[in-house]
Amino acid sequence: MRQSELIGKTRKDAPKDEEAKNAQLLIRAGFVHKEMAGAYTFLPLGWSVVKKIEQIIREEMDAVGGQEMHLTALQNKASWEESGRWSDEVLDVWFKTQLKAGGDLGLATTHEEPLTNLLTDHIASHRDLPTYAYQIQTKFRNELRAKSGLLRGREFRMKDLYSFSKTEEEHEAFYEKAKQAYKNVFDRLGIGERTYLTFASGGSFAEFSHEFQMVTEAGEDTIYIDEEKGIAVNEEVYTDEVLEKLGIKKENLKEAKATEVGNIFSLGTRFSDPLKLVYKDETGEPQPVVMGSYGIGSSRLVGAIAEALSDDKGLIWPKAISPYDIHLIQLQDEVKDAAEDLYKKLVGKGYSVLLDDREKSAGEKFADSELIGISKRVVVGKRGVENGTYEVTDRITGETADMKEEDVCQI
Ligand code: ATP
Ligand code: MG
Repeated sequence: MRQSELIGKTRKDAPKDEEAKNAQLLIRAGFVHKEMAGAYTFLPLGWSVVKKIEQIIREEMDAVGGQEMHLTALQNKASWEESGRWSDEVLDVWFKTQLKAGGDLGLATTHEEPLTNLLTDHIASHRDLPTYAYQIQTKFRNELRAKSGLLRGREFRMKDLYSFSKTEEEHEAFYEKAKQAYKNVFDRLGIGERTYLTFASGGSFAEFSHEFQMVTEAGEDTIYIDEEKGIAVNEEVYTDEVLEKLGIKKENLKEAKATEVGNIFSLGTRFSDPLKLVYKDETGEPQPVVMGSYGIGSSRLVGAIAEALSDDKGLIWPKAISPYDIHLIQLQDEVKDAAEDLYKKLVGKGYSVLLDDREKSAGEKFADSELIGISKRVVVGKRGVENGTYEVTDRITGETADMKEEDVCQI
């Protein structure tokens, strides 16, 4: 990709009404466009990061047997009335509208109801279970406050998986697998060290739910971290009784601000009962299906990573989700051919490369490259070309080295 053609220019200032650091940075670096409060458009650079995050999530969900599908975002009132969640008093973030032909419609906040309803067509016998369905989709929530940039959008992207099991035991076994799959996701994203399995309130069917909380000052949640055990407790369940139950000592805990990047939830028969999702067991008796739900906020992750991993110069993307592998900087006009040549070689080796071919000063190009935060930068300059070397800088460690072409092709 040539930067001169890229949709999404870098800019000096973020819009005045943008208060969140993550959105300010992402707007200035040309990753997102703010359409209005709580609604952001992903430009090519930002969309590339979203796709990489979601691909990692997809691979880990597939690995535990998840089947990817795509549900409609339009919500049928009937299913939600059966579960008792159509009312604005029960679910206060609904976006609802009326059909021209008459009748109400909701925009998806989450998908327990439609999927449970859908699976009554698929699940009849114990042989149909367990089963796991997931999607990666846009959700809509009429959030009262949308001041945290991508951390709390009115429209956002989420991976939601739902598990359907025969028994509580079978459910528990999958729940544990899902925990591990989530850990793999956050490790692969490069945020494993700052993301904690966190005990939170469980609703009516389980004592706890489990959140995956990523430490960042911009987070809306307060958690108490036991560094040694690698777990945390959300302040909503932070009591002496809970700590004792979890075998955690108060004096070992460290308070931190964090944002919930994922959560897993035991639902029991909360939805299968009202929506009549039952299976026949081996003796032919009807039994309710035991369910769980498992969310990851993929667009929140973009904001959380932008917020937490950046420095005063700009964004710093972990290698696995960097929008491009290499930011190739053509420093002067005179080295245009050398830069084009190296660009073609790197692309031929399988790297994705953003070539800064713009007519800008070296200072501007360096500043933009630090703002955009691609994990590796390779500079093609007059002096280097004469010596046959290129300056390679790692955005994460800040280390710089002059490398020969064959070494650049192996970074
Ligand atoms: P929170 O506690 O932050 O309000 P939640 O508990 O309502 O989130 P879920 O309904 O379980 O969240 O959604 C699953 C995931 O979707 C969350 O863990 C979070 O990462 C993400 N998410 C939830 N609400 C938003 C939002 N308004 N904007 C961006 N991401 C969100
Ligand atoms: Mg929550």
